[in-house]
Amino acid sequence: MSSFDVAIIGAGPAGSTLARYMAEKGYKVAVIDKKKEIGVPLQCAGLLGRKIKELNVLPKEFIINEVNGAYLHSPSNNILKVSKKDTQAYVIDRIGYDQHLAEIAEAEGADFLYKHKVKSVNNSSGKIIMANQGHKELSAKVIVGADGHSSIVSQSFNKSSKTFNAAQYLIETPKPLETNFVELHVNSNISPGFIWSIPISETHSRIGLFGNHDYKTLTNFLEEFMISNSHFTGSNIIKKYQGKIPVFDPKKKLVHKRSILLGDAASQVKPTTGGGLLIGFACAKIASDVVSRSLDNEKFSDLKDYESQFKKRYWKELKTQIMVQKTFELLNNNDLDQMFIKSKEKGLENIISEYGDMDSQSLLIKELFKRGLIFDILPKIFYRSVSHIWKFF
Ligand SMILES: Cc1cc2nc3c(=O)[nH]c(=O)nc-3n(C[C@H](O)[C@H](O)[C@H](O)COP(=O)(O)OP(=O)(O)OC[C@H]3O[C@@H](n4cnc5c(N)ncnc54)[C@H](O)[C@@H]3O)c2cc1C
Repeated sequence: MSSFDVAIIGAGPAGSTLARYMAEKGYKVAVIDKKKEIGVPLQCAGLLGRKIKELNVLPKEFIINEVNGAYLHSPSNNILKVSKKDTQAYVIDRIGYDQHLAEIAEAEGADFLYKHKVKSVNNSSGKIIMANQGHKELSAKVIVGADGHSSIVSQSFNKSSKTFNAAQYLIETPKPLETNFVELHVNSNISPGFIWSIPISETHSRIGLFGNHDYKTLTNFLEEFMISNSHFTGSNIIKKYQGKIPVFDPKKKLVHKRSILLGDAASQVKPTTGGGLLIGFACAKIASDVVSRSLDNEKFSDLKDYESQFKKRYWKELKTQIMVQKTFELLNNNDLDQMFIKSKEKGLENIISEYGDMDSQSLLIKELFKRGLIFDILPKIFYRSVSHIWKFF
């Protein structure tokens, strides 16, 4: 049976990034994935906040478009326009990028086993059993579950995780799109989810949504939206995609004996948008430091530091986003429309443009509280639940 310092289950972006960090440091790394082609099928809108430049490599060839603002639409189409001068987000070729991250980890010396489905892991001995002929078993000092929303590693010490369904179409629009703006459309029928349109060119966009409904309901909703919205009426649907987004679970254990969880497997996603790439990359860095230290000291109890460092860095932001999401869930379409109208009157477009950041919303929320604006834009009956958020700062 082959043995490794670290076995990473899942060659998604989070797993491959950690594999590269560990291989660069000279550890013996295995990456196991059930897919034969990494990143396929596409299950992503491919929007990455500008902080990607601090958190991972992003070669130019994978950047399809750059965005510096957003149009936020209420159910009756009241619109808030928020933007900054500089690029705020990149729209990427997600399949090419996932494959690139795997290739550069492999080039650093990580061993990739494709078409290998992990059936079970033993968190005490580090033994991993795969469902294939050939490499049936391997062992590792540390196991990393980077195996996505229905992680088998997570299930070995956590309850099954909750997920949202997501659907996305690649469309060709009859009217030209503003390529440097994304669109977000809120509607209480899909709250806490929303509809997005991420332009990849003047004529093509990734339009999608997530929510608590089944795929059929979501796609019906999306198609009705496209018919009723003059920007998208008459669009040609080129491809349809579907996927799952984990619901962030603050109670999830991220470390158990020799195993840790990373990325979607750890529900490391932004509660308000479901975006998981940047947090996954930041956590791959934390994991690489903690796992290296415990391998060097042969002290696996040190792996616990991974969970505490993750919480130290992200807890406040993620909990703020959960509260924002819960508040949104309480609002009906009329409340949402009123909120947009009042926001425009109170000059929120400028404040969101100045303090807003697609990856961390706590700064903006804090500013809205400081200026008393949260209470101006929300219906009175929500004051009590919203006051809870303020106590948090
Ligand atoms: C429709 C949609 C749109 C999205 N848009 C965005 C966006 O714009 N921006 C953003 O930041 N995030 C977005 N996300 C979320 C983002 O795609 C995920 O957060 C990200 O893919 C998580 O990466 P990961 O490496 O943790 O897991 P994954 O990318 O899910 O990779 C997990 C890997 O594990 C493998 N695997 C699973 N089980 C096993 C097993 N038993 N044995 C072997 N291999 C296994 C899988 O084959 C897969 O390759 C979106 C998600 C969806 C569904």
